[in-house]
Amino acid sequence: MVQEQLIPRGISDPRVIDAMREVPRHCFVDDALQSRAYGDFPLPISAGQTISQPYIVALMTEALGLTGSERVLEIGTGSGYQAAVLSRLCSQVYTVERINVLLAGSRRVFDQLRYFNIIAKLDDGTLGWPEHGPYDAIIVTAGGPEIPEPLVEQLGDGGRLVIPVGDQHLQALQVLEKGEDEVQVRELEKVRFVDLVGEHGWK
Ligand code: SAH
Repeated sequence: MVQEQLIPRGISDPRVIDAMREVPRHCFVDDALQSRAYGDFPLPISAGQTISQPYIVALMTEALGLTGSERVLEIGTGSGYQAAVLSRLCSQVYTVERINVLLAGSRRVFDQLRYFNIIAKLDDGTLGWPEHGPYDAIIVTAGGPEIPEPLVEQLGDGGRLVIPVGDQHLQALQVLEKGEDEVQVRELEKVRFVDLVGEHGWK
């Protein structure tokens, strides 16, 4: 996966590459899909949701520029795979999921792998998780019509937020950087994510 899918496409942060090597992706997919766990594509998880393609996980993670000391908020826990990768690269991961079966499943895997620096809760993540903010980095792993304002508010100065923004068929991965008095947004590639459903997402 790392040699054939990530490095040739330009993933170069050695810490990200190590984390992608370390986290056992097969633990986050159903028994019936075990043989395809490291393939170059997204896979279905419960409740009609998906675990992203490995390259997209690596790309979004790399865009956050983590060095090890950060507190990171993820919206859209899903299988838990992205949160697990983040947990190897920062000090604390807070992750929010709106579907209970997914939250419960991901918590089981975090415990099994002894990834104790991940805290997960059931809620509408478009509202963020204000109690633990501000965050050094925020990652949204579902596609919304715009960047949810509460997430920009909960991002600390110098922090980065990565989110797919667009319509329900195609989005662009946007990276927002919060400076002291200005916010900059740049675009990575076009992507296709499941819907971000909530107050500041799709209704
Ligand atoms: N990061 C996940 C990707 C899961 S797909 C992984 O590695 O597997 C996106 C997830 O976002 C779905 O589980 C979906 O239920 C969740 N989601 C969508 N809208 C949400 C919202 N407003 N708050 C929290 N989770 C949301």
